[in-house]
Amino acid sequence: MNTKRVLKLNSKDTKDGPIIYWMNREMRVRDNWSLLYAKSLADEQKAPVVVVYTLVPGFLGGRNRQLAFKISALKQIKQDLAEKNISFFVLVDADGKQSGKHIAEFTKNISAGAVITDLYPLRISRSWSDYVRKNIACSFFGVDAHNIIPVWITSDKREYGAYTIRPKIFRLLPEFLDTFPEMTSSTYAFTEKIKGDDFESLLSKKELEESLQSISWAPPGEEAAHGALKRFLKDGIHRYGAIRNDPNEDGQSNLSPYLHYGMIAPQRVALETTKVAGKDITHILHHIKNKAKIEDDKKPTLIDHAGAFLEELIVRRELSDNFCFYEKKYDSTECFADWAKKSLEKAAKDTREYVYTKKQLEEAKTHDSLWNAAQTQMIQTGKMHGYMRMYWAKKILEWTHSPEEALAIAIYLNDTYELDGRDPNGYAGIAWSIGGVHDRAWFPRPIFGTIRYMSRGGCEGKFDVQKYITTWVQ
Ligand SMILES: Cc1cc2nc3c(=O)[nH]c(=O)nc-3n(C[C@H](O)[C@H](O)[C@H](O)COP(=O)(O)OP(=O)(O)OC[C@H]3O[C@@H](n4cnc5c(N)ncnc54)[C@H](O)[C@@H]3O)c2cc1C
Repeated sequence: MNTKRVLKLNSKDTKDGPIIYWMNREMRVRDNWSLLYAKSLADEQKAPVVVVYTLVPGFLGGRNRQLAFKISALKQIKQDLAEKNISFFVLVDADGKQSGKHIAEFTKNISAGAVITDLYPLRISRSWSDYVRKNIACSFFGVDAHNIIPVWITSDKREYGAYTIRPKIFRLLPEFLDTFPEMTSSTYAFTEKIKGDDFESLLSKKELEESLQSISWAPPGEEAAHGALKRFLKDGIHRYGAIRNDPNEDGQSNLSPYLHYGMIAPQRVALETTKVAGKDITHILHHIKNKAKIEDDKKPTLIDHAGAFLEELIVRRELSDNFCFYEKKYDSTECFADWAKKSLEKAAKDTREYVYTKKQLEEAKTHDSLWNAAQTQMIQTGKMHGYMRMYWAKKILEWTHSPEEALAIAIYLNDTYELDGRDPNGYAGIAWSIGGVHDRAWFPRPIFGTIRYMSRGGCEGKFDVQKYITTWVQ
């Protein structure tokens, strides 16, 4: 594998002993650079690989829906790893503060030779890694198994927008969009009798089933993720660019929960998309350039659609990771663009025609049936349509006392109800909507200043608003 994907996180040496893969962001066995690296190091050391997952039941505000999704996937991972002769343990971190400590203790208990983990740009995961870095006696490596191009290689700074990161990504993709080697079975078994936590009893059978029912559009696990990709490439890709922005259509890939939990690698999705499109990545991306919006094209080709999809999957997604990797305050108004901060400050005292509390918003009780429909779609299914997410977040800015309050409420709702929430894409998407991050200044308006505005009238010109409302609230 390309070892540029790997960072050494401490100065300790690799020792004799089992090699731990601390699975965190990437909940999969196939196409996983972290696991592949752990396996190659273990083979070199003639040692077993041991996989450990630290499970935080209410991770960043997630509820039973997200927990059920993870628990089901963990059961499958355990089986898949057993088939590869690899032991798997789950350690439960009840309050989200102990994961680093659990891993450091586990490392000591089994006298591990090295620890490999997934690099995850969110602060909470960094704090866990930091604890492990300071408290283990063997080597510690971080692998970016999420981004196609390791986030620190794409750029060494926070990027201004898609237009600044795109050329960097285009230049590096031929090197990093390589094919995955097969994950082979481990020769060396881990035979020590150690007990992991009983993660399956965190939810009763009834709670698990009910939670999974509410997200029946996204069955959990790696197998289901590959199934969703297959379906999308068969039935959806040929019209993606034309209908992905219509909330009445099932025109998006629905891959975001799988990508968020690492149940499928973005690199695998990109590789399979290029196969279906019949062209290499450079050809497709140069063809589409910045033309993410192709609704108006009379006869968009498969290459146009594939290009529109890859723009979102690669450029926009890796831009979000760049944002959270270099901007530690990704969930605060301090991360807003300077022009946006000044302009929102100037508009701070503008009169708000409607002001809603967090509770009213959460219960979808606003005067705007379109907004209520979007909020209801998210609560009921765990996925608000992508186009509506922009409108939804901008209206929260319009109907609360301040950008600070709007940002906090949007993040709370997004992280609590979206199956794909608690993700760099979410923090970047909300900061784009409310704080102009990765965007430019538009014409000034009350409350919004020069932040891009969206209106219900604008939505009416784009799709059948009444149909969407009827589907979700009537
Ligand atoms: C206010 C707001 C909140 C958002 N919250 C989240 C979130 O919590 N989690 C999340 O994954 N995405 C979030 N997004 C981005 C986007 O709306 C979703 O990724 C997309 O709707 C998920 O559906 P899909 O997988 O069917 O998308 P598709 O259109 O099929 O796209 C495929 C993949 O490309 C990536 N992608 C698509 N659009 C974007 C985008 N605008 N920015 C970054 N990556 C993108 C995602 O990984 C997505 O799964 C948010 C956007 C906004 C404006």
